[in-house]
Amino acid sequence: MAGRPLSHLATIPVDQVKGIGPRSTKKLAEAGISSVADLLLHPPRRYLDRSQLFDIAAVPLGEEVTVGGLVMSVSRRRIRGNRQMIDAVIGDGTNVLVARWFNPWIKVQEGWEVVLSGKVERFQGKLQMKSPDMERMGSDSLLTGRVVPFHPSAGGIGPAAMRRSIWNALTRSRPIHDVLPEEMLDRLDLVDRDYAIANIHFPETARDAEPAKKRLIFDELFRLELALALRKQKLIDDTVGVMHDTSGELVKRFLAALPYELTSAQVRVIQEIEADMGSAHAMHRLLQGEVGSGKTVVAAAALLTGVQSGYQGAVMAPTEVLAEQHYLGFRDLFETAGLAPALQDPDTIEGQVNMFAEPAANSGPTIKMALLTANSVEVNFLPVGTAKRADVVGWIGDGTIELIVGTHSLIQESLSFDRLGMAVVDEQHRFGVYQRVSLRDKAEDYDPDMLIMTATPIPRTYAMTLYGDLEVSTLDEMPPGRIPVMTKQIPMAQMKQAYALIREEVAAGHQAFVVAPLVDESDKLEVTSATEEFDRFTGELSGVKVGLMHGQLRPAEKDVVMHRFRDGEIDVLVATTVIEVGIDIPNATVMVILDADRFGLSQLHQLRGRVGRGRDAATCLLMADPTTDEGTERLAAMVATTDGFRLAEEDLRIRGQGTVFGTRQAGIKDLKMADILRDAPLLIEARREAFAMVASDPRLENHPEAAAEVRALLGADVDWLFRS
Ligand code: ADP
Ligand code: MG
Repeated sequence: MAGRPLSHLATIPVDQVKGIGPRSTKKLAEAGISSVADLLLHPPRRYLDRSQLFDIAAVPLGEEVTVGGLVMSVSRRRIRGNRQMIDAVIGDGTNVLVARWFNPWIKVQEGWEVVLSGKVERFQGKLQMKSPDMERMGSDSLLTGRVVPFHPSAGGIGPAAMRRSIWNALTRSRPIHDVLPEEMLDRLDLVDRDYAIANIHFPETARDAEPAKKRLIFDELFRLELALALRKQKLIDDTVGVMHDTSGELVKRFLAALPYELTSAQVRVIQEIEADMGSAHAMHRLLQGEVGSGKTVVAAAALLTGVQSGYQGAVMAPTEVLAEQHYLGFRDLFETAGLAPALQDPDTIEGQVNMFAEPAANSGPTIKMALLTANSVEVNFLPVGTAKRADVVGWIGDGTIELIVGTHSLIQESLSFDRLGMAVVDEQHRFGVYQRVSLRDKAEDYDPDMLIMTATPIPRTYAMTLYGDLEVSTLDEMPPGRIPVMTKQIPMAQMKQAYALIREEVAAGHQAFVVAPLVDESDKLEVTSATEEFDRFTGELSGVKVGLMHGQLRPAEKDVVMHRFRDGEIDVLVATTVIEVGIDIPNATVMVILDADRFGLSQLHQLRGRVGRGRDAATCLLMADPTTDEGTERLAAMVATTDGFRLAEEDLRIRGQGTVFGTRQAGIKDLKMADILRDAPLLIEARREAFAMVASDPRLENHPEAAAEVRALLGADVDWLFRS
């Protein structure tokens, strides 16, 4: 179809539109509207269907309504704080109401015919509308239609001026070119773009705006997904991947030795990962899985696939405690699987592993592994505590060590790998994109496969946009025998219930966590509060061994506490949120969270995920006297479900779009009309179509208008995609 493309309209500044002068141009720019395209894509917030006007005598109180009438009188009064109050009495023949504004700039005159929108309340015996939207009717020809659009004011430009400008812009811009082929419009039941843009603003009947809106929402999502598809294509083009050996011995032996059966979700995800790893392109895969769904063993299988192919594997965890837990867990599993190297004598090693040492007791393959954090180093082929940091760094650099578990230490400049082939980032929401990329850059001539793990579940549609350039695998099944954690909300005054539950569970051989109140996100105060709680619980629970864990303990001290808890020498661990992610103590069956209403929903979910990881029934007590609506809603959501995906959706609903966890929000803030939760089905279609388009035309050479549009409308964020 002929017509003007949006990408062209995006190059025409708004001051070219009749009626928009320099002052309005500046104001509009501040509101993000600088081109004709921006103006045309600024949708009305609502429509006034004249047949829908309420009689003043019949308005329901407290609801959003629209009334029309004559301004019978206007009075202005100065009030406290040098402000002005403007009252206008409006009558429509059935009754009168007072419209009241505190805005001195409001223009209203006796004798005008106006339409008002807002809520009507009864105040001092009179009907009143506080700060209603007002529109003067009459000579304006745009108002003679039956349906009048009300655009959100932008930069102080009111609905009437906005409407007129858009009308002028629209008449000069039509017909507007469509980037989508007709075949696609038919298939997806979408109206064409020219119709959509005209009818979103000036529909014949209110119903005509619906298909227009659907089309424009689709366009927003399609542009975003097209950008993501292009980014992914570019990653594929620009990367040189490693073809890993997916049929080797290590993974088979390791899996065979596990003390449990893999869930079918774990089996499926391991296959998805192996398919990626075995192919020539570099893997960029997100592994989503509920807390406790068993991501670690999946990561181990991926790392071992890398190792059996002759490469190094590395896993980066956000905390020392978690890195250590992974190291110890892997070490024990390797031992069980007969993959542990023989212990060597530290004295015979001088910066080199002794090639002439006795062969290991088992003659099969073994894995040399290291733990490297800012404060500790260990390797699994020397006695505990004897490895020296400089040696370990050297062995990572020369390839002696095949599997490295660590924290941010892994991305330090001074650390180099010999041939990193498989990198895992655990609990990715704790890291920035930059850190993820830094780990990938540890390999120089090629791109290692990357597996990014997160237990912060986000709705599938969010994953598609936030991580749209990644493949997504989901562990949607829990290991068998898990009993959902029972969650109760209890007033702080009833701490006795918590003490009783802890005593009972400890007597049955189990363990408990107590999380101290969040104090203004200040580490120091949090430590004080944890220490106080520690004293209190120690006093209340005589005979029970209570431990304390917080962020200001020295790493070695944290280690000792974690070891003692893991070994059962501590029954109750009072802690700050340092225990929030990843900690795996299957014997713990009680989680008590103090002042639980202060924590965010994903944090509460993570904390609760520390229990219920074994076969025993577990309880989470949310001790709280919530003082805000949001706090109350969060706790109710926690009590209602243990499903992380549902909680994530609930979290979005409570906090609103654009506040999603994680740092990758680019793109979402560009959505003006689309709502990722509400429009999920359209998003899924848009994604499928966008990826199909890029698959058949990787550089969009046959779809130049679509490419131009992504670039023109998404701006600088996507510029690099188009550089050669
Ligand atoms: P997360 O996904 O939260 O990282 P983990 O990998 O820490 O979960 O696993 C949680 C617990 O479940 C661990 O104790 C682990 O040993 C156990 N586990 C993992 N997979 C299975 C399985 N298939 N069957 C039984 N237990 C399992
Ligand atoms: Mg984990």
